Amino acid sequence: MSFITLSKENYFYNLEQIYSRVGSLDQIAVVLKDNSYGHGLIEIARLAREFGISRAVVRSTDEAEKISRFFKYILILSPNKVVENRNFYYGVNRLEDLERYSRNINIELKVDTGMHRLGISPNELHRAIHLIKVRKLRLSGIFTHFREADEISSTLFVQRKIFRELVDEVVSHFPNINIHSNNSAGLFRSGEKIRDEMVRIGIASYGYLPDIPSFKFPKLRPVLSLWGEKIGELKYPKPYFRVGYGGVSEVGEDRKVSIYDIGYSDGFRRLPDSAIREKRFRTPEGNYLVGRVSMDSIALNSDREKIEIFNSVTPLAKILGTIEYEILVGLSEKIERRII
Ligand SMILES: *Cc1c(COP(=O)(O)O)cnc(C)c1O
Repeated sequence: MSFITLSKENYFYNLEQIYSRVGSLDQIAVVLKDNSYGHGLIEIARLAREFGISRAVVRSTDEAEKISRFFKYILILSPNKVVENRNFYYGVNRLEDLERYSRNINIELKVDTGMHRLGISPNELHRAIHLIKVRKLRLSGIFTHFREADEISSTLFVQRKIFRELVDEVVSHFPNINIHSNNSAGLFRSGEKIRDEMVRIGIASYGYLPDIPSFKFPKLRPVLSLWGEKIGELKYPKPYFRVGYGGVSEVGEDRKVSIYDIGYSDGFRRLPDSAIREKRFRTPEGNYLVGRVSMDSIALNSDREKIEIFNSVTPLAKILGTIEYEILVGLSEKIERRII
């Protein structure tokens, strides 16, 4: 069966790099939403905890419940239900959400400083503060999300300034709340160590940062590798044999072609025919795809029993015109995760 390996050494290496950019371990919240970006929710939670991380960020309350034993603080970005747990912190994305909470539930206010996706807009802030006060809600934090931390643009600095103003306003009513704004790119772009805020780190912990030379980002180490196992081979292949649906490529001089148990149902996406003909996708050992990706299998010019299909998704993301996040998060939960 196909499987995924997670390198503990690489994960800890990335966490060290993150740690070096903040003042204390307690400031780091690892983002474990969506099955830890496809890496495995429980597996990564356990490793983060072992490193000494005590804070996590997830998407749903269901995810938070699965990892509640590992962390003292779990921020839920889009709660699907409210349960009483003193380690849970519920993100409030709009004024109406305030109605859902009672006095003994921790809430954190998300403010929209320019992403224009979710969050209380600056002109609703007074109303939010008023509602929180009259309903005696337990406001524990305020946060925002940056639109272009991973692109060369000045929007980041504009958003930071707006956020500062909103934070000052809220803190004047609720001192000692948790303040946070930076994701991976924001953390590594800020010139100096961040000492006074929590940071929410997803992609960098998994080993990726945008490849923009002027940012001078450190080199991180991808944590996840995808492996396939041989389930068949091409018998007596002739150079003109065409392989798979549409017969988009010929066997050519490669007489060893095997079929492996990974397909697009596992999240290994279909590549354009041109990329297959031009052999643009290569495994770490240099093998390439012969024919299209099928639902449950691929063919590679190899006869190995187990084959490492990738140990970084950056080349795949380039071929598919997407970002590493999308490839990683699409990896099926049914694939076994092994920590190595
Ligand atoms: C996903 C997410 C993050 C993590 O972003 P990365 O770029 O992966 O570090 C941080 N904050 C919020 C609100 C998010 O939704």
